[in-house]
Amino acid sequence: SSVSHELRAPIASVRLMAESLDRGRIPEPERQKGYFAFIVQECRRLSSLIENVLDFSRIEQGRKQYEFEPTDIAALVRETLNLLEPYAIEKGVLLKLHPWTLDPQPSTLELNVDGKAIQQALVNLIDNAIKHSPKGEAVEIELTLQSPEPGGASSEATTCSLSVSDRGPGIPAAEHEKIFERFYRRGSELRRETQGVGIGLSIVKHIVEAHGGRVLVASEPGKGSRFTLE
Ligand code: ADP
Repeated sequence: SSVSHELRAPIASVRLMAESLDRGRIPEPERQKGYFAFIVQECRRLSSLIENVLDFSRIEQGRKQYEFEPTDIAALVRETLNLLEPYAIEKGVLLKLHPWTLDPQPSTLELNVDGKAIQQALVNLIDNAIKHSPKGEAVEIELTLQSPEPGGASSEATTCSLSVSDRGPGIPAAEHEKIFERFYRRGSELRRETQGVGIGLSIVKHIVEAHGGRVLVASEPGKGSRFTLE
């Protein structure tokens, strides 16, 4: 039921706005621009929600498949930020990309991943971070590559970490595991201020684990949250 609500409401408002534009009811160019921007953003959000719902059912039915191929991870991060920039601007949140911390500096940042899935995981984390950020705050994205310690076990691979930090309300330690469960949303049904259906993080976890990785969360009430895909 929350999925159908989350789909109906934005479709109704996009339709209303598109009809007003179509009928010439919005003569002022500035207002027109605002309407167009809203329609584009809502469609982006709807696509992302639909992608999540479809993937969620694929995962539940054990049908989700991944296609691993060499992917330029830095380009993928930049592209994802461009996609979400308009949403951040609308929410008055600054998206800040840290300079890469790469040790040693590789000639290429190609990793064998399912680029579409990793992008979806990153979109889910950044969407959450923007959604929970107070106006005027920054959401910071960091990409780190770390080679295994010299002399360490030879099977150790390079670790790639992608983290998303916000200065939102934070999450108590007792709920750090629960938030990854399907349909788990914090707070009571009536007092909830944010939109959502509670499947975003369960998908993030599935995607990262399918890559042999893990999701880490560092968060405390009042101190913001940091989610890391490793
Ligand atoms: P949804 O965002 O649709 O509720 P998610 O699975 O993405 O679903 O998140 C589950 C819950 O975890 C959210 O309802 C929210 O309470 C909490 N949460 C997720 N990300 C953050 C964040 N960055 N800051 C605070 N709370 C968060």
